[in-house]
Amino acid sequence: MTLSLLDPIALPPFSALTPQAVTLGMDEAIVRYEATVEMLISKRPATFETLWLPLERIEAAFDTFWGAVSHLNAMVNQPELRAAHAAGEARLVEVTTRVRQSPELYALLVALRDKPEFAKRSPEDRAAVEHVIRDFELSGVALAPAQRARYAAVSAELTALSTAFGDAVLDATDAWSEHVTDPGLLAGAPEAAMVGFAAAAKDKGLEGWLVTLQQPSVSAILTFVENRDLRARVYEAMGTRASDQGPHAGRFDNSARIARTLELRREIAALLGFDTPVAWSLATKMAVNAQEVLDFLRDFAGRAKPYAEREMAELSAFAARELGLDALEPWDLSFASNRLRAERYAFEEHELRAYFPVEQVITGWKALLEGLYGIRLHEREDVDLWSPHATYFDVVDEAGVVQSGLYVDLHARAGKRGGAWMAPARPRLADGSLVGKPAAYLTCNFAPKLDDKPSLLSHGDIKVLLHETGHCLHQLFTQVDRPVIAGISGVEWDAIELPSQLMEDFAWDFEVLRGMSRHVETGESLPRELFESLQAARYFQEGLGTLRQIEISLFDLLLHQGQIGDDPAAVLAQVRAEVAVFQPPAWHRFAHAFTHVFAGSYASGYYSYLWAEVLAADGFKAFAEAGLIDRATGDRFRAEVLARGASRPAADSFRAFRGRDADPQALLERKGMAA
Ligand SMILES: [Zn+2]
Repeated sequence: MTLSLLDPIALPPFSALTPQAVTLGMDEAIVRYEATVEMLISKRPATFETLWLPLERIEAAFDTFWGAVSHLNAMVNQPELRAAHAAGEARLVEVTTRVRQSPELYALLVALRDKPEFAKRSPEDRAAVEHVIRDFELSGVALAPAQRARYAAVSAELTALSTAFGDAVLDATDAWSEHVTDPGLLAGAPEAAMVGFAAAAKDKGLEGWLVTLQQPSVSAILTFVENRDLRARVYEAMGTRASDQGPHAGRFDNSARIARTLELRREIAALLGFDTPVAWSLATKMAVNAQEVLDFLRDFAGRAKPYAEREMAELSAFAARELGLDALEPWDLSFASNRLRAERYAFEEHELRAYFPVEQVITGWKALLEGLYGIRLHEREDVDLWSPHATYFDVVDEAGVVQSGLYVDLHARAGKRGGAWMAPARPRLADGSLVGKPAAYLTCNFAPKLDDKPSLLSHGDIKVLLHETGHCLHQLFTQVDRPVIAGISGVEWDAIELPSQLMEDFAWDFEVLRGMSRHVETGESLPRELFESLQAARYFQEGLGTLRQIEISLFDLLLHQGQIGDDPAAVLAQVRAEVAVFQPPAWHRFAHAFTHVFAGSYASGYYSYLWAEVLAADGFKAFAEAGLIDRATGDRFRAEVLARGASRPAADSFRAFRGRDADPQALLERKGMAA
């Protein structure tokens, strides 16, 4: 293999990343990583230069290489590459776990930190070392040998449970479908949804239409289809997946996995010296303790509840009056809400899209970034990419100096993974006279250009673009030289959505939207009246949506705290009695498909979305108070928050930017609940 695969300063050579090169590259990466760790363990004296820097260098190189492989695997669906990626991923987890549990390496890092000279190093150097020592400790390295072995066994079982939980949800989702031969049963479904149902049927060799539990199918049925019984069947099948209830009761049941996961999370938290799994989770977050989060959620629930009650009363009255639905059932909520929205805010999604051809949106997006941060994006033609539809931009400052790089891939296409996300592409790295400039991947899945029809974006698409841009800026503006705490690396999980949600709010400014708009036929920019209709619908059912988020967040925390028992249904019932304005039926099984918490990394952390939204809402107000597109505010946000990464606590960065702690009132304003 060529050295450039493991070069953290060069841009990734995508065209050279064949499945064979990936496997060979992984072999070499592991050999070099392990050899480096071996060498570091035996080398004396162990100083910042001889111990820390080589470790940091090899880990950054490994991350950059593997980040490129993972990115490529998400961009092109190719079976050999997928196999090489899956095998590599397993090896990566294995080798990093082994290194993070090396008592020798841990002892050397602790000794480095405890030397008197260490106090004289820069705050960034100290923060990076402290950060990695904490990582080691949370991997159980500091435990006595018997406990360390127990930690490893519990960890392995938790990983297996998490995979099995996710698989059961996937299998339960795939196992249910309903074959429809009379299109009248699907009356109300939009054309695009009918195409989807027909394609699903054809996939199974069936005539007609197939309703499934895939998200687009469920959402189309519950939102649009007039047949109430069909809505009820889909709701029941969806709400009882992988549980002891519903049409497949007991077949994929996650009940025992939930119980065992909770038990093991308690054990591992106790091994590491925490009172509860919540305290273990909060050890790496901005929130100080469970009480602080619970108080925040309950206070917010109290404020949102009157809005939610009013929204529910309006919806019930509308459903009875206009739809003949006297008592609203849970499978009526989306359907009735959609009708109410259409009646109240008379504008059509496709009417709005005609104003936002992607080329113009990108022009307005660049102008926004230049206005806020003084950067310009220059497209480069000579960069190795994975698709002719991807773009690479040099991010150039006002002096014309290239500061960083941004990969952008905006449109859906066959073989590309769905969704929108940001990922680091390259760290900022100072290596003697060479300085590696940070780079990021920005991925979306907007409607592609078809034949000669331009790609038109929705307002939701524009919010997504700005959201992911916020994450990218965090990476691109970093001034931190230590990769483990630069960009988004190491930032507290409950603060990481600050830049993204803050940038999203610019999509609610008329001037910003005007700059992104040019009607695809008339060339006109967005008219004020249409913007006002959009604005009027912004807070539609915000109270209900907010209460639902709080309900899930409280459930996650209280279940892991364990004070009101281990039975998820009982804990959820208690939470709902406290905050919900609508009670799902007793047979509904939310926890059994709660993959964020049981097959993901959100355990005792689901509240993070709302927590970071307070920071984002108040941060955005700083811009609004200064006239919105304000360079001085942009520069301050960049210098105090984005550039700092995890080199200091997120709360300190926010305070340095805003001059005070975040004000929760700003979140009420962001949600239209300030009155
Ligand atoms: Zn995000």
